[in-house]
Amino acid sequence: MPPQSTSTKIDAPQVEVSESRVGVTQRKVANVKEVESSTTETAKEWNPMEHILWMNVFWFTILHVGAVYGTYLTIFSASWKTFVFAFFTYKLSLFGITAGVHRLWSHRAYKARLPLRIFLAFCNSVSYQNSIYEWARDHRVHHKFTETNADPVNSKRGFFFSHVGWLCCKKHPDVKLIGGKVDMSDILNDPVVYYQKKYYVPSVIVCFALLPTVIPWYYWGESLWNAYWVAVILRYCFALNATWLVNSAAHMYGDRPYDKNIAPAENITVSALTLGEGYHNFHHTFPFDYTTSEWGYRINITTAILDFFSLFGLAYGFRQATPEMIKARIARTGKSGHEVVEEHEYM
Ligand SMILES: [Zn+2]
Ligand SMILES: [Zn+2]
Repeated sequence: MPPQSTSTKIDAPQVEVSESRVGVTQRKVANVKEVESSTTETAKEWNPMEHILWMNVFWFTILHVGAVYGTYLTIFSASWKTFVFAFFTYKLSLFGITAGVHRLWSHRAYKARLPLRIFLAFCNSVSYQNSIYEWARDHRVHHKFTETNADPVNSKRGFFFSHVGWLCCKKHPDVKLIGGKVDMSDILNDPVVYYQKKYYVPSVIVCFALLPTVIPWYYWGESLWNAYWVAVILRYCFALNATWLVNSAAHMYGDRPYDKNIAPAENITVSALTLGEGYHNFHHTFPFDYTTSEWGYRINITTAILDFFSLFGLAYGFRQATPEMIKARIARTGKSGHEVVEEHEYM
């Protein structure tokens, strides 16, 4: 069941790397102009309904029907321990997304020692949202070309498209074009990412499906049937929809204090569901910031856990937007009246 794109191309890209004023490495596609001008009339008129991947539609439908059945088993048949375990697994899988493939590998917002990177790769395989490599590539394209044809989750196509529709149709030609040119060399140089990609299928079978099915059966006598439908299918469906809300709801609903000219918005509900990834106006304005907001640990458990790991030296090199930077940006593109947090609560 492919949850995201099915491309496995890992060819090295043609990219230039430049340092921004704030010392944040920003990778720029060398021939952005070429790519932008390549948007043909055909591409502009591109209609997702003419490019539907029916097999993906089928699998996502089955998944959601299965989640309804998993909910039924949760209420009428499964042990409360299995439900708690499924909830924990959902959080663990999202941590692989938020702290792992998003803040670490996509944005290089901090550095992580090998044991933490291995743990994050494990969590990522539990989440089954594509390999670290493919997720990060799509996400870098999303940031670089937000709300354009080259954005894989272009929210201008509506809530449904940016939520799940983009996974149910072929990619827009511009997404493919850009995706093949984004610099991913830093990622492939990380052996953890390389081996997670190489052994992605077996890692998903074990981490995503096998362990969450066997653990409830082994430790508290849950039936394998209940464990599978609750801790794998229901948990997966819920985690996927929570993640997708960042691309849909957090690109449509909420305040825009840092840059009122972009669609990404501050959405507390999405933050609560995604361990702190709903502060999307801040994140698209300061993508290098490891906290993705200026509110410390407020509905942002990912930041709290990363700070905890830093106590043991596992996470370090945190990058953050300073209050001065935030103020300057608000003065330029933001909403007047927004009070910037002067003293960050971070460690
Ligand atoms: Zn991001
Ligand atoms: Zn976004």
